[in-house]
Amino acid sequence: MATLVKEKGINSFKCFMAYRNVFLLEDDEMLNVFQACRKLGAVAQVHAENGKIIERKAEQLVADGIRGPEGHSYSRPEAMEIEATTRALAIADEANCPLYVVHVMSAEAGEAISKARRRGQVCYGEPIAAGLACDNSSYQHTCWRHAAGHVLSPPLRDPSTKERLWRMLATGELTCTGTDHCVFKADQKALGKDDFRRIPNGVNGVEDRMSVLWEKGVETGILDPCQFVAATSTNAAKVFNLYPQKGRIAVGSDADIVVWNAKETRTISAKTHHQNVDFNIFEGMVCHGIAEFVISGGRLVVDERQLKVTQGAGRFVPMPAFPPYVYNRLEKREAAKSAGTVAVARDAYDGPVIDLKAEQERQKAVAKEQREPLAAAAARRRPQRTSSTGRQPGAAGATCRRARSACPAPSSTTPSRPGAASGRTSRPAVPAQAACGEAVD
Ligand SMILES: [Zn+2]
Repeated sequence: MATLVKEKGINSFKCFMAYRNVFLLEDDEMLNVFQACRKLGAVAQVHAENGKIIERKAEQLVADGIRGPEGHSYSRPEAMEIEATTRALAIADEANCPLYVVHVMSAEAGEAISKARRRGQVCYGEPIAAGLACDNSSYQHTCWRHAAGHVLSPPLRDPSTKERLWRMLATGELTCTGTDHCVFKADQKALGKDDFRRIPNGVNGVEDRMSVLWEKGVETGILDPCQFVAATSTNAAKVFNLYPQKGRIAVGSDADIVVWNAKETRTISAKTHHQNVDFNIFEGMVCHGIAEFVISGGRLVVDERQLKVTQGAGRFVPMPAFPPYVYNRLEKREAAKSAGTVAVARDAYDGPVIDLKAEQERQKAVAKEQREPLAAAAARRRPQRTSSTGRQPGAAGATCRRARSACPAPSSTTPSRPGAASGRTSRPAVPAQAACGEAVD
């Protein structure tokens, strides 16, 4: 991590709370990563889902005969995302590490981030285009390819989720928008044709993100155009320390520039898109907002809506450690927190300290002392029982219960303090239970 941060321009690391035996990190391992991020000035990212519980649930679903893509959704309930998000926030807070929660799919997980922000924690949430425009009804589709085409993790949620996520973007409770773009063609998704656990996870998003977000966020009046620019560009540049070089148009900055035509519309389709996949989760969506021109790295890469790119023209943009947007506040907050963590000045305790070993020995001796008279009484009783005649067993039991009520409870003879133990040894060694037995017989 230190080499990546100091020499390679990497300033964020994603931790997985899902995918056991592949990526899943235990809580203490995640704490180690978060502490390392804090030390190096990086931003921790998290895929927040309780992978172990999901794995068990998926096994049960398959055992119950649910093998289609709907099983993917059933096996990853929203509560598992909420729980993991809350846990990651708590661990990050413990490590004083900034946390960026990627692909927030659950509104309540988003609210957990929002609550942490209101408590002052330095954390960010990133819903994605798929989660802001689609929902889990696709998993019920009768076409296997269609349903499997929507498999991603965490999965799409119920239809009410989208609007709640949008509202949190509008209020700034969620900060950025991503895509988690990761596409698979039909024959690749088909690896899981008989078992949803083997369907490769991932959907498209990069190519259509801006149009989908404009249509669902700006055309609906949830965001204004400036908030749209912040949620799609500027905020990410700030969190990942590219601002003000990127994320704004100004003298001295060299951000890529999009000339946006908000009046025109286009219909999204796998038939016309540029990405190398045969499916589009936004298929048929009519969107306002078209990129008329795009200038990237000083070159016109979209000219009057026509894509004019050359393979290999992209370049890596190094991201320095300690983004001021993130770390300035975090460092102040950390100092304030540690100021409250001081040892209390008080007189040292100088009384007795229990000797645990000696106490165990003493308790063993007391227990032995209690067992001996009971054993002796039982031995005395045994021959009498064999010689008794003509008595109804039920009648004997009734006599016993009556007699017992007059006796002290056996437990009351058990000493709990050393003094009580020594007092008891001076009494006749006939405990209550034995006396009761004698009365019956
Ligand atoms: Zn992920």
